[in-house]
Amino acid sequence: MNSDSHYDVAIIGAGPCGTTAARYAAEECSVLLIDRRKTIGTPVQCAGFLPKYDELEELMPDADLPDTFGYPASCAYTETRYQRFIAPTGDTKEFGVEADVLDRKRFDQYLAERAVRAGADLRIGTRVTAIDGRSVEIAGMWGSHTISADAIIGADGPGSFVAKAAGLPGVEDDPMGVAHAIAYDMTGVEIDNEAIEMYFGRNFVPGGYAWIVPHSGTSANVGMGIRKAMCEPGVTFRDYLHRFIEEHPIASKKLEGGKVTSVIAGMVPVGGALRKTCAGNVMIAGDAAGHLIATNGGGIPTAMVAGKIAGETAAGVVNGRCDIEEYESRWQREIGMQIRTSVYVRKLMDGMMRSDPMMTAVMNMISPAHTKALQRGQLPDAVKRLLVGMQRRLG
Ligand SMILES: Cc1cc2nc3c(=O)[nH]c(=O)nc-3n(C[C@H](O)[C@H](O)[C@H](O)COP(=O)(O)OP(=O)(O)OC[C@H]3O[C@@H](n4cnc5c(N)ncnc54)[C@H](O)[C@@H]3O)c2cc1C
Repeated sequence: MNSDSHYDVAIIGAGPCGTTAARYAAEECSVLLIDRRKTIGTPVQCAGFLPKYDELEELMPDADLPDTFGYPASCAYTETRYQRFIAPTGDTKEFGVEADVLDRKRFDQYLAERAVRAGADLRIGTRVTAIDGRSVEIAGMWGSHTISADAIIGADGPGSFVAKAAGLPGVEDDPMGVAHAIAYDMTGVEIDNEAIEMYFGRNFVPGGYAWIVPHSGTSANVGMGIRKAMCEPGVTFRDYLHRFIEEHPIASKKLEGGKVTSVIAGMVPVGGALRKTCAGNVMIAGDAAGHLIATNGGGIPTAMVAGKIAGETAAGVVNGRCDIEEYESRWQREIGMQIRTSVYVRKLMDGMMRSDPMMTAVMNMISPAHTKALQRGQLPDAVKRLLVGMQRRLG
């Protein structure tokens, strides 16, 4: 790559969003896909839970799903069939969800391969250091260069550098809108290989939930997403995770004797999408734009849908078919409702989570089918009445 290289489209970030964007944009134009990581997909910052295609169609009924959801089985550790909720009292509730538990390193590498096969140029170990109009400064394993691009996609995750460079407000500006996630891969545990489990309770996991996501019957990703503003003073995220693993009355029995094989941490933007996701020739997508279902912190599906829309729009802009604003109206139409609703529900649930009896009562009152709907960023009328009523009682 020369210092005066020109690409039609530059994409920053080779996660699920950026790789999917590159796969679609590269069908029609020249694309440079850049990631600061030296190995795509590592370090892993995800539990890897991804509902199967049929479930995704129900989750995002208005979305035109990208074909990158057609990944090979080798990208998954295992398949699960249920999602189980454990209330602060230990009461459980479950519903059916056919899903894969992804090996994110393999998955992200498969997606990068799809982008390259479509014609994208890939530069790993390369960081974007400045953006000024069409000019993008990059530095890393292949030296420092300035390239130019007609369209730029920021798929660079939470705290997006590209969003800041484009003058767009970051998703981390609202403290309650960011969850910190910490997780361990563990082996030597004894768990249900068919279910992912979500545990609630303010002593163990304030303002969020803890999860056990199986990789097999004896290995799992065990973690939690919590909001700093709801933590006890002086107690770290790590302290909470250890307390959960060692002391939770149900989980500790399953995890007893387990050994940690990997430590995982990252930010989860649960505050909703940026008010504006495009400016000039720049589009922001995926976690970078807050494209995530706030009720469960799941961002892979929405990131990939937004990536496809951004990639197609970038190609359309370069080829004179559309304006960049089409990006925003398309993702709003395809996934906007689910993202907005999930943030509204998350805010209602924040109030309930301050009280374990209240949280337990709410969880007991909501049917498994309605719990599943909430997980999908939907809010059935009956649940809305219940949650708003409870919220009023809390003052
Ligand atoms: C602990 C944890 C568990 C999670 N579990 C789940 C789950 O089970 N299911 C689910 O659906 N979601 C989960 N999520 C959320 C999910 O990981 C994200 O929503 C998803 O990865 C978003 O994809 P993305 O492509 O938008 O961003 P990312 O996957 O974050 O990719 C962004 C990429 O941009 C690169 N980058 C950043 N800045 C620069 C720069 N300046 N220059 C070059 N490259 C740059 C990064 O290296 C990275 O590769 C979890 C998140 C965390 C933190």
